[in-house]
Amino acid sequence: MSKYWNPLVHSLTPYVPGEQPQLADLVKLNTNETPYPPSPRAQEAMRAAVDGDLRRYPDPEGQQLKAALMRHFSACGIAPEQIFLGNGSDEVLAHVFLALFRRERRGLPLPLLFPDVTYSFYPSWCRLYEIPWRTAAVSGQFELRIEDYLLGNSADAPGGILFPNPNAPTGRLLPLSDVERIVAANPETVVVIDEAYIDFAGDEPASIPTAVALINRFPNLLVVQTLSKSRSLAGLRVGFAIGNAELITGLERVKNSFNSYPLDRIALAGAAAAVEDEDWFGRMRLAVMETRARLSAGLEALEFEVLPSSSNFIFARHPRRDAQSLSAALRARNIIVRHFKQPRIEQFLRISIGNDEECQRLLVALEEILAGS
Ligand SMILES: *Cc1c(COP(=O)(O)O)cnc(C)c1O
Repeated sequence: MSKYWNPLVHSLTPYVPGEQPQLADLVKLNTNETPYPPSPRAQEAMRAAVDGDLRRYPDPEGQQLKAALMRHFSACGIAPEQIFLGNGSDEVLAHVFLALFRRERRGLPLPLLFPDVTYSFYPSWCRLYEIPWRTAAVSGQFELRIEDYLLGNSADAPGGILFPNPNAPTGRLLPLSDVERIVAANPETVVVIDEAYIDFAGDEPASIPTAVALINRFPNLLVVQTLSKSRSLAGLRVGFAIGNAELITGLERVKNSFNSYPLDRIALAGAAAAVEDEDWFGRMRLAVMETRARLSAGLEALEFEVLPSSSNFIFARHPRRDAQSLSAALRARNIIVRHFKQPRIEQFLRISIGNDEECQRLLVALEEILAGS
């Protein structure tokens, strides 16, 4: 606390990211990074971007990256003015809160609606931008109950709707037909789908159930994605949003009142090359999904209850063992997973999918810990 602070700063609850310890021989399964490196073509493009041109500001429009995204989503027919780029999708989401979620009705602020079990950054942004919020409880199986989001123009209509799909930290996927029902039922309300993990929800590229496919039918829909998870570029900080050009223009106005150049030349070059490398993208996604199936089976063999996951992590609980002590016992063996001390989910561990060797080490460690009780 300080007398020099803006009073708002006292009321913030900053998001706490998973730790990044600098330990050798650590099995790090706590922040949903991908165990595999980014596309070699992306790495090469970034090396090539380290040259004398760094004296110049980067392209504020990020045209090369937008062109790559248009090709990636060519089945959806996306135009450059429907794409917004940011320094990680966390930054994109922060701008969404200010540009699209600070809404009023008859002089009263309207709450943002999101699930009770979800990405814990959302309340932090609400406090930062002084946006009230309301939560809808997920079901006993941690699925979104879509009735809670079909509010239309009722007196309960929120100022905005936001959820990750697949949800975090549960990994549960809402089918695209249900996403469509929610978007269609709320034409006056912006619905934002945080698709940080969507690329792990379909085997074939065409079966990834992204709501980008709905963009041209619904002006109130915005889809946010990141290169941090499925493209192994958490360290680069690149995210994007796709939506109706009006929504994108609103985001641009906020961004250009904040920082005109959130993506540097190296990030733009690496991100464009990563999006273009469809072959690498496909192979890494599949590798993660195959390991996910093996790890789920291994955990079930140890009697864990494993929620069906469509993401690059697993959410699991043991019927008889306390999650926090399991997490501590793993940590003592240099294996870190994420545990949230939060109502409804405090008995779960969120385990990022590592490579096969890391997942095997996790299973062996859990077997020992469980046997030693
Ligand atoms: C990881 C994550 C993000 C943020 O990713 P960036 O690294 O900032 O692009 C956003 N939403 C959810 C649900 C996430 O898990």
